[in-house]
Amino acid sequence: RAKEKGGNTFQLYRSEMNIRSLERLNMEIDLRRAMERGEIMVYYQPIVDLGSGRIYGMEALVRWKHPIRGMISPAEFIPLAEETGLIVPIGNWVLKEACRQNEEWISQGLPPLVVAVNISVNQFQQPGFIQLIKGTLESTGLDPKLLCLEITENVAMKNVNYIVETIDKLRELGVRISIDDFGTGYSSLSYLKRFRVHTLKIDQSFIQELTTDEENAAIVTALIAMSHKMNIKALAEGVETKAQLEFLRRYGCDEIQGYLFSTPLPVSDFEHLIRVNRNLSEVLR
Ligand code: C2E
Ligand code: MG
Ligand code: MG
Ligand code: MG
Repeated sequence: RAKEKGGNTFQLYRSEMNIRSLERLNMEIDLRRAMERGEIMVYYQPIVDLGSGRIYGMEALVRWKHPIRGMISPAEFIPLAEETGLIVPIGNWVLKEACRQNEEWISQGLPPLVVAVNISVNQFQQPGFIQLIKGTLESTGLDPKLLCLEITENVAMKNVNYIVETIDKLRELGVRISIDDFGTGYSSLSYLKRFRVHTLKIDQSFIQELTTDEENAAIVTALIAMSHKMNIKALAEGVETKAQLEFLRRYGCDEIQGYLFSTPLPVSDFEHLIRVNRNLSEVLR
């Protein structure tokens, strides 16, 4: 009986696997077509300067508006895009669109903001990446100072020397660099030492329970102090409460990003936010 049951479990497992790989395959086919069909779009989440309380910049976050499944979050399709290499054309499209949109706002007379774009290690390691950045800045007319590239430390970081050199060349172009999701995954302090970045983005997992978990509080205050000693700005991701904000302010965190101020927004909603020049004190009122 037990054997029979085991057999059934195996069968069930197998058919589940088949369904899953079929779903994956369908999703890959859909994703390949998504760009041509205009289903890939960019949302923007404001990044606020804690000193002034004003919007300093925004992170460009990719969205996939699937015709049947609706809005699909990057957590669902970025891993697939990474595996299939589709991340390169998708990521390059997001980069260009974010630069174009930022320049459009500036040409409309809105205050200049820094747009942060996530760059996959896969994309970063493509030959001609520096040229791609140069070309994107030239064709969109965006000031290099108003572009920030976010890189995540990753197990795929094989050629660390190459990454170090690429970051230095990007800095020479005038582009800003941040290290994303710091403190999780494969992050290491030796990377932070070798990658000459402008901003360290403290992962949101440390910001949650910041005011109730002593370990998180210790990690976050240490990361802020360390960044400052290395002449790097500290940005806290995933700030959701006033208590977290007050804590971060007390310890001198430079910038915040999170639902407390705003979720990621479609272009028109983000534009409204910058037109009315929304600042932190209005949110806290
Ligand atoms: P990330 O770069 O760390 O982006 C921040 C994520 O945290 C975003 O998720 C954002 O919506 C979410 N977030 C912001 N504030 C809060 C908050 O207060 N609470 C909580 N719980 N979450 C918050 P999203 O947009 O789903 O993106 C997930 C990840 O997908 C990004 O993490 C990034 O790693 C990746 N990603 C997004 N767009 C791109 C892209 O264009 N290229 C690449 N390579 N990766 C991207
Ligand atoms: Mg990011
Ligand atoms: Mg992040
Ligand atoms: Mg993250």
